[in-house]
Amino acid sequence: MSSKNNAASEIVVQLKGVSKIYRMGEERIVALNDVNLDFYKGKIYCLLGVSGSGKSTLLNIVAGLEKPTKGEIIFKGRDIGRMSERRLALFRQRYIGFVFQQYNLMPTLTALENTTLPLIFRRMSKRVRNKKAMAMLQAVGLGERYKHRPSQMSGGQQQRVSIARAFVNDPQIVFADEPTGNLDTKTTTEMMNLICGMAKKHNQMMILVTHNLELSKYCDEIIYISDGKIEKIEDVSAQKVEIGDADFGISN
Ligand code: ADP
Ligand code: MG
Repeated sequence: MSSKNNAASEIVVQLKGVSKIYRMGEERIVALNDVNLDFYKGKIYCLLGVSGSGKSTLLNIVAGLEKPTKGEIIFKGRDIGRMSERRLALFRQRYIGFVFQQYNLMPTLTALENTTLPLIFRRMSKRVRNKKAMAMLQAVGLGERYKHRPSQMSGGQQQRVSIARAFVNDPQIVFADEPTGNLDTKTTTEMMNLICGMAKKHNQMMILVTHNLELSKYCDEIIYISDGKIEKIEDVSAQKVEIGDADFGISN
């Protein structure tokens, strides 16, 4: 990838004075309170906070799934918060990869079909889409199971498919919202190595959302969030576990 050289200084997304207030009848819920953050290329962030602290709201706003009440989210010189729904859909398709706690796979589609989904909107033949998706499934160790549907796979295997789908389009931003919340300890370690290894190999920025401090050892920085406010940002890159810069067999 050509942009590897300036990895240290390139900002991918910038949040400026972002607030989100939900109104429930008379009640005002401040989900985000004047958040200012810079996210850099090639870095893995751990967004850490208890349930209800605003983690998902922050992710949804950066992904353009929700509008901020106040503030700007700058990506490639544009404010995501002001984009039309049509542009936002394009932005997500082109630049964002998601890994969810519940995997969010389409139950009627095979592993291969689920993995090709983010490529459907690209000008790409079906043959090329399948080839890329197949390479990703091999990279996550599921090459043999490309014909399986979600109900025919374990939780860990389904999460592997969702990881393949998140990375197949070479996204600039990867969101992982409690990606190991439903998995046992051994599978959690495997998944964290896989997700973080992928992001590292392709020099992508990733935001890992969790309430589990243990997972921060895979990350470069911990962003502590509490009651919608950023409490502290801690650089933990020196304590980071060694994630093999393994060749997962992707050749795109
Ligand atoms: P987390 O992901 O850290 O658990 P959330 O971002 O989901 O936290 O929620 C932050 C706060 O905003 C919580 O108090 C939650 O109840 C509230 N909230 C989230 N989404 C909505 C919504 N759509 N309507 C009203 N309140 C919401
Ligand atoms: Mg949440």
